[in-house]
Amino acid sequence: MNRIKKKMKIHSMKKITKQQKIQKLEDSDYYFITMKQHIGQVSRENVKIGEEIKMYQRIGEYQGIVSSKIHSPVSGKVRDLIDVEQKDGTKVKTVVIQNDFKYEQEDLIKRDRTQIDKFTKEEIYRSIEEAGIVGAGGAQFPTHVKYNIKNNTVETLILNGAECEPYLTSDYTVLNEYTSEFLDGLKIVKKILEPKEIILVIGKENKELAKIFKQTRWIKVVLLPTEYPQSSEKNLIKKITKKEIKQNQLPLELGVIVSNVSTIKAIYDAVIEGIPQTERVVTISGELASKPGNYLVKIGTPLNHIIDKVKPKIKIEKIRFIYGGPMMGTDVNTLATPTTKGTSGILYMKKDIDKVASQNCISCGYCMEVCPMRLMPMQFDLNYKNENYKKLEELNINVCIECGACGYICPSKVPLMESIKLGKQKLKEAGGE
Ligand code: SF4
Ligand code: SF4
Repeated sequence: MNRIKKKMKIHSMKKITKQQKIQKLEDSDYYFITMKQHIGQVSRENVKIGEEIKMYQRIGEYQGIVSSKIHSPVSGKVRDLIDVEQKDGTKVKTVVIQNDFKYEQEDLIKRDRTQIDKFTKEEIYRSIEEAGIVGAGGAQFPTHVKYNIKNNTVETLILNGAECEPYLTSDYTVLNEYTSEFLDGLKIVKKILEPKEIILVIGKENKELAKIFKQTRWIKVVLLPTEYPQSSEKNLIKKITKKEIKQNQLPLELGVIVSNVSTIKAIYDAVIEGIPQTERVVTISGELASKPGNYLVKIGTPLNHIIDKVKPKIKIEKIRFIYGGPMMGTDVNTLATPTTKGTSGILYMKKDIDKVASQNCISCGYCMEVCPMRLMPMQFDLNYKNENYKKLEELNINVCIECGACGYICPSKVPLMESIKLGKQKLKEAGGE
């Protein structure tokens, strides 16, 4: 049997939207702002039903050390506070805001972008914290926590613009169209982190961007081949710095910080324009989207509004909607599901009705070959099904970065991702790591 390469060559499908200029998605009548927009403790809503609110008003306070503030993308009235059940059974509040289309704003603190050298570290840090910025790449780690480096030295700041998931081009368009904002955002970050080197990582298929950033001389550009998985934090750090992050170790302990390029743009918006993280570029794509493109979408926009503005080509009952990319994204099952600060893409895909029913493992070893963490995915499935959770721990299931590569490659359609996610959950419930 032919052995396959460790990295999968998959169709990038980025051509669908790569040349599409960013366009604004028309605003919705209602916004659904969840208090869980980040890794860590959920935020606490600070508004009441019936309250009139301004655009950019803070509507969620952080709770605990790893948490973030949340703001309204429009002015209007709080219509409801609903409890939305999560996959783990917990309930999280969602603030429902009726847009009055008046866009009456909170007073914003703006700064002169030509004076970045004069900004203090403290004011930059506070602006990032006040704006509720979380990582825009999917992990949604609160940025003010990540950048609170205390006495640590940042040897390398890695800017992740590799965007290795198929279809997604939001980071590409941010770098391409918001180049000067990105560079000023980066100068701001440079000021507080004082990294010894700054490395911008871009996919090889976007090499035209490299020329632009190489001109700066203070940014080193690294081009990565279009392979999956490529741009998970651990992979990226190893590839770029040769440093290996151990389980439960923070990159900062090795002198590294990784930030997504769209996070840097959000930092520009916060520090220079005074605008909190309430809007982002989202790639709306997939074979069944009638007007695929890169859209500026307000956070909290429900899927039904998106479908109304970017019409599907066929009946929605026949479409699989995914928030994120096809590999690591999440299937969306209700039309009220809102976008969050981490929603980089929305895909309209054909429902796999002809999908081959899940079969038994044929021991081909493909899943092991593609796993970037050198794990044994087939063993996760086997031991999860046998309820041997202790074994899952021994097999290092928690090292899995849930990249989805194993499930994608498996010729027998073994439900590897389901077993991995549920297995981790069982382990957690049993008090494992
Ligand atoms: S086991 Fe985890 S890390 Fe390895 S390929 Fe599967 S999802 Fe990716
Ligand atoms: S789980 Fe799938 S990919 Fe892995 S060894 Fe079995 S059949 Fe092959």
